[in-house]
Amino acid sequence: MTQGIQDKVVVITGASSGLGEATARHLARNGAKLMLGARRLDRLQALARDLSLGNDVAVQTDVTRYDEVKRLIDRAVQIHGRIDVLLNNAGLMPHSPLDRGRAEDWDRMIDVNIKGVLYGIGAALPHMKERKSGHIINVSSVAGHKVRAGGAVYSATKHAVRVISEGLRQEVKPYNIRTTVISPGMVATELPDSITEPDIAEAMHKAYEGAIPADAFARAVAFAMSQPDDVDINEILFRPTSQE
Ligand code: NDP
Repeated sequence: MTQGIQDKVVVITGASSGLGEATARHLARNGAKLMLGARRLDRLQALARDLSLGNDVAVQTDVTRYDEVKRLIDRAVQIHGRIDVLLNNAGLMPHSPLDRGRAEDWDRMIDVNIKGVLYGIGAALPHMKERKSGHIINVSSVAGHKVRAGGAVYSATKHAVRVISEGLRQEVKPYNIRTTVISPGMVATELPDSITEPDIAEAMHKAYEGAIPADAFARAVAFAMSQPDDVDINEILFRPTSQE
């Protein structure tokens, strides 16, 4: 599996837990060079230590701040000389029915799940276009394919990620840049902890008893990355076998 992964420079947002952390571990084992972003610097530094990567690769980043996302990407270019892959993974899922009026949660989802992805794209593209090479992997969800009661805003953000990814794909073809959108079903991470309504959180934690380990996502990322340069895996959708 190291083919197509070894020595690639990969920037991961939301690397402090869950899917981002699992992917960092998987790619590091296969010889990738990493740059890790999230707000919890202590978690990033602990991960970097664990993977023997050094503190330089852990960069405190709030993806709702364009300047901070640019700093993360620029740091990757400074340290590793280029950026091959951006995994736009940071996200949150504070579900609630619309009539509860959780405007703060709506704002956070729109800011992190949509604007955070756009900021990553905006920061990485100049470097990738200059080298006529690169790969942007965005994280949508099964919720980016269908909407359920209580998940309208989250679903809207994840539909947006798919639409942005397709628009991006069409725009960057001339620059030899690959684009992939990965839509996972339930994967065991801290994601349900972002739910602020106690009754919804309880129901979601129960549903997540059927979630699969985060390495399933890491393997999907590795699969997309390890294709030959002229093969672009545009979309991956996967679920636990038992998920409806
Ligand atoms: P986790 O809660 O475990 O991880 C979320 C990550 O996003 C954390 O590293 C967190 O880091 C980061 N994050 C949140 N807000 C910000 C911010 N403002 N700036 C930078 N980083 C931020 O959940 P997952 O690993 O499951 O989530 C990763 C992605 O996968 C999300 O986009 C989610 O929507 C998507 N997804 C997850 C599924 C699942 O079942 N687990 C299913 C489908 C999609 P920190 O708090 O340190 O900033």
